Amino acid sequence: MSGLTAEVVIVGGGPAGLTAAIALASAGVETALVARAPTASDPRTSALLEGSVKALDALGVWQHCRQQAAPLRAIRIIDDTARLVRAPEVYFAASEIGLDAFGYNIENRFLIAALEARARELSALARIEDEAVAVESADEQVTVRCGRGSALSARLAIGAEGRRSLCRAAAGIDMRGRTYAQTALTFNLGHSRPHHDTSSEFHTAVGPFTLVPLPHKRSSLVFVVDPAEVADLSILSNAEMAAEIERRSHSILGKIEVEAHRGAFPLAVETAARFGAGRVALIGEAAHVIAPIGAQGLNLGLRDAATIGELVVGAHRDGHDVGKLTDRYDHMRRADATSRKLAVDLLNRSLLSDFLPLQGARAAGLFMMDRIGPLRRAIMREGVTPWASQPRLMRGEAL
Ligand SMILES: Cc1cc2nc3c(=O)[nH]c(=O)nc-3n(C[C@H](O)[C@H](O)[C@H](O)COP(=O)(O)OP(=O)(O)OC[C@H]3O[C@@H](n4cnc5c(N)ncnc54)[C@H](O)[C@@H]3O)c2cc1C
Repeated sequence: MSGLTAEVVIVGGGPAGLTAAIALASAGVETALVARAPTASDPRTSALLEGSVKALDALGVWQHCRQQAAPLRAIRIIDDTARLVRAPEVYFAASEIGLDAFGYNIENRFLIAALEARARELSALARIEDEAVAVESADEQVTVRCGRGSALSARLAIGAEGRRSLCRAAAGIDMRGRTYAQTALTFNLGHSRPHHDTSSEFHTAVGPFTLVPLPHKRSSLVFVVDPAEVADLSILSNAEMAAEIERRSHSILGKIEVEAHRGAFPLAVETAARFGAGRVALIGEAAHVIAPIGAQGLNLGLRDAATIGELVVGAHRDGHDVGKLTDRYDHMRRADATSRKLAVDLLNRSLLSDFLPLQGARAAGLFMMDRIGPLRRAIMREGVTPWASQPRLMRGEAL
């Protein structure tokens, strides 16, 4: 590694970047992580599907946060559109496909803390608490320059900086997509009735309203609204908001108490034209942004981290240049990311559309899922274990 700071430099200390850093450093790859000092903690939760939980377990992260996670044993989809064509309620039980749970829901602040705790245990991981301000990719190496003046050279840079990725811009990769006329409001709630480890997704004409279990009698809520509604809703007191949430959830969880830390996230669908070019690879939301429907976003990001981890560790062990695998990485991630994007986008647009045939197709699809057991089970298996991508970490195997 003459002249290099590390074999790999990762920019961005969100869940995708931290997971990639842990995957590499725990397999002995010298890794530098450039991560901004945390400002406010992320108010969201993440429903992590089975493969993600296995990967975090294999990386020694899950033991640091499993106590704060709640199992997702069932998912209900309820058509709450009050339209002419409505779908039946569909109920997915993990036991139908031989699983104890589809996955676990955890507050992002606990997930990040667990990742940080594991990262601190790894001697091959150097953490630079700073902001990357420039990325320069050359034939033999890539250099990341930081705000306080340090420069880090490596064979490969992994961009994990979220939607506005510096690495992506430096590699000349375009982001394609569009914004939706939707904002996701996020809340954590206490409630008087148990959730029975069941996530309830109400489909409304402006988007989903999804209650996801947290430990004990608590749940997280992703409440998708028209951006024009945000101002009116954000001035509601906690008691007024609790009453509004109870009304919109048809009191299925009883009396609601809204906790502190609300969030608001404008929604978009965006995909990078390539997931890697030259000596730069992109993971997580630096590579793809999708709407929060069916808990796919971070699960995709963790599969990115697991895949780049597997490729880099393999090349490192074989004595190959780890910066020469970005074409292969792009090829390996495209089908998974594209299929999730298309499915989530179609479902979201079918909710928003007033076009009767599209509403009819959506209702017919949900009707068939409800009635045809093998179809329902195939969709559940694909949701949890995508055919297009099962990197080793997602199967619980160490790198
Ligand atoms: C309302 C909502 C609910 C969601 N729920 C789920 C769910 O249940 N399950 C699921 O799988 N997904 C979910 N998602 C998606 C999930 O939250 C994202 O996919 C995930 O947070 C993206 O993680 P990331 O690490 O790629 O990016 P981020 O979390 O955006 O992290 C990027 C990090 O990089 C840092 N950074 C940026 N630029 C620089 C720089 N120049 N130098 C240094 N650091 C930099 C940032 O400060 C940040 O810490 C949800 C999304 C939303 C909006």
